[in-house]
Amino acid sequence: MNRRPMRNPHAGVPFTAADMSDAAIATALEDVSVPTLLLSCLHITGDATLLDGPLKPQGLFLNEVQGFMSEEDKAKARAYALDVIRSWRDRGCPEPDPIGPDLLKRMMDWLVCESVPDEYVQMLLEEMELDGGDARALAPVADPAAAAALPVVIIGCGMSGLLAAIRLKDAGFPFVVIEKNADVGGTWLENTYPGARVDVGNHFYCYSFEPSDHWTEFFARQPELQAYFRRVMEKHGVEPHVRWKTEVVGATWDETTATWSVALDTGERLTARAVISAVGQLNRPYVPNVPGRFDGPAFHTARWDHAADLTGKRVVMIGAGATGFQVAPAIADRVGHLTILQRSAQWMFPNPNYHAAVGPGVRWALRHLPFYGRWYRFLLFWPGCDKGLVVAKVDPEWEPQHQSISAANDFARLMFTEWITSQIQDRPDLIDAVVPDYPATGKRTLQDNGSWLATLKRPNVELVRAGVARLEPDGVVDANGVKHAADVVVWATGFRVNDILLPMAIVGRDGVDLRARWGIRPRAYLGMTVPGFPNFFMLYGPGTNLASGGSLVFHSECEVRYVTQCLQLLAERGAAASGPSAMAPRQDRDDEWYARCQAELAQTVWASPHIAHSFYKNAAGEVHGLSPWRLVDFWSWTRTVDPADYVWDVAGSRS
Ligand code: NAP
Repeated sequence: MNRRPMRNPHAGVPFTAADMSDAAIATALEDVSVPTLLLSCLHITGDATLLDGPLKPQGLFLNEVQGFMSEEDKAKARAYALDVIRSWRDRGCPEPDPIGPDLLKRMMDWLVCESVPDEYVQMLLEEMELDGGDARALAPVADPAAAAALPVVIIGCGMSGLLAAIRLKDAGFPFVVIEKNADVGGTWLENTYPGARVDVGNHFYCYSFEPSDHWTEFFARQPELQAYFRRVMEKHGVEPHVRWKTEVVGATWDETTATWSVALDTGERLTARAVISAVGQLNRPYVPNVPGRFDGPAFHTARWDHAADLTGKRVVMIGAGATGFQVAPAIADRVGHLTILQRSAQWMFPNPNYHAAVGPGVRWALRHLPFYGRWYRFLLFWPGCDKGLVVAKVDPEWEPQHQSISAANDFARLMFTEWITSQIQDRPDLIDAVVPDYPATGKRTLQDNGSWLATLKRPNVELVRAGVARLEPDGVVDANGVKHAADVVVWATGFRVNDILLPMAIVGRDGVDLRARWGIRPRAYLGMTVPGFPNFFMLYGPGTNLASGGSLVFHSECEVRYVTQCLQLLAERGAAASGPSAMAPRQDRDDEWYARCQAELAQTVWASPHIAHSFYKNAAGEVHGLSPWRLVDFWSWTRTVDPADYVWDVAGSRS
């Protein structure tokens, strides 16, 4: 049989009876996702009759990883799995034989209780990497000298900048990463506020090509996320390529040499053949410009002042979106009094695992059971993949639009409302304040385990449904004119999301400044490239933020693959033409893309005129940061660069 020399990295780390007795295995299996466990057993046995048997998941819901199986069925399944795993262990944990595509498709359907459409299968197989490969990594450029002639500057060493660095290193391009902070992680370095954690399941919110058996919580807290990015950076040898505590202030395109001159805050200038911006959208804190002055400590959540002791203090938190929702439960028990000024209520849905620890059994299964982690990733991915888009799409016939925008959206509204109101049966006075008055999913929908409303019910916490009017030396006056005494003010008011690339001056052909050209309407072809700005690429650029589910790590992996392919083409064409090459998207392609995006976005709940305030909208009420597309569309459009989408030049060839 033609087997790879190395064991498939997802085939499970072998163990012996001395490592793991029968009793220890049985204990571990009490923790795990039983449907996922059964698929791991199928890999071990190769016995597909399992899929036709009575032990199977009964339904699908995001983060419900037991498939609604009965306790009795789960117990039977664990007993079966114990036999299978014991026998496999005693045979030395051999690498299971590969499974063919037809059976893999049946396994997918079985796990999520529905037929996964064909168009998704390839994408999901790529995401799962069951063959042990890394389909999104590109091979080194065939001509190393051509790659070496293409130095790249990456701006930012957060999740996507680090990813770009890993891929460029593997492909053989020289690069430097310029990072304004002193360490890796971007948003996961800067946001150290109490309670900061990810709200996308971590076993999916991580790079597809890295192991995920280490997370201690299903939704890890900030320090663990930052440590993850540091570990990955060290493993891939990226750090020697990073310049910390250095900021890019701008970059200017030179047509004659087909290079970017990248200006740093040190006064230096770097010359690069290509620039990749990986600064993201949640990079610059937003603090509303309100009149007055507060004399005590005041800080934005992304600049948390850990020296400010909140114990026993009167804290006024202004704003409560995704961030404030995490801060309040984390500080309520130590402050004297917490006043939350919240302008809009938030939609939320149940996730009992939101603060839960990953049990030792799950971590053992992720590490040792064949392909358990891969199927677990799929089980988290699938319900969060594209289904949210159905709920976000406006049905123009549906009435009343101020309440919901379609039948599916109304169903979500009812379900979320039921979840919210069920928690405050004892506090009917809160209902009007906490049930949103705009369509569900219109703003970021929050994962909830009950901690937010439990916090609001505390005697030392007051929710004020109003914005902020002004500051006074000893307090905050809300939009209703009521003053709230404060010792400390926390701004949980979000980020300047619509000011993409702020404050950098990116100057392209003919001296055009990109942010000036955009105004309030940032746009980029496929969210990555801009006409007139050759060899300039954006990760997490305009039109790529996800409001309907999925994971930005997935989007970044698609984007970085695309950008690396562009660099490969630039290297090849430059070598062929014996001169530095340049690529920028064709204006007509960009126009068509932008029109299509805007038409689509206008038909989503995020553009609803019934949502008074939202960072998804610009000053004109239009949406530019979000993607209206299915993940599978973005994946297929970015899988292979079509050179015909671009205008290609060689330095000096333009008049
Ligand atoms: P946000 O969602 O923009 O929330 C900002 C809050 O400040 C909202 O309550 C907003 O009210 C309020 N606000 C803004 N301007 C105001 C003003 N002038 N007066 C009074 N209130 C004002 O920002 P965020 O909470 O920092 O979240 C931003 C994004 O970061 C999220 O959507 C998410 O993508 C990401 N995030 C993720 C996580 C996670 O993964 N766990 C956690 C935190 C953040 P309105 O709602 O009325 O505008």
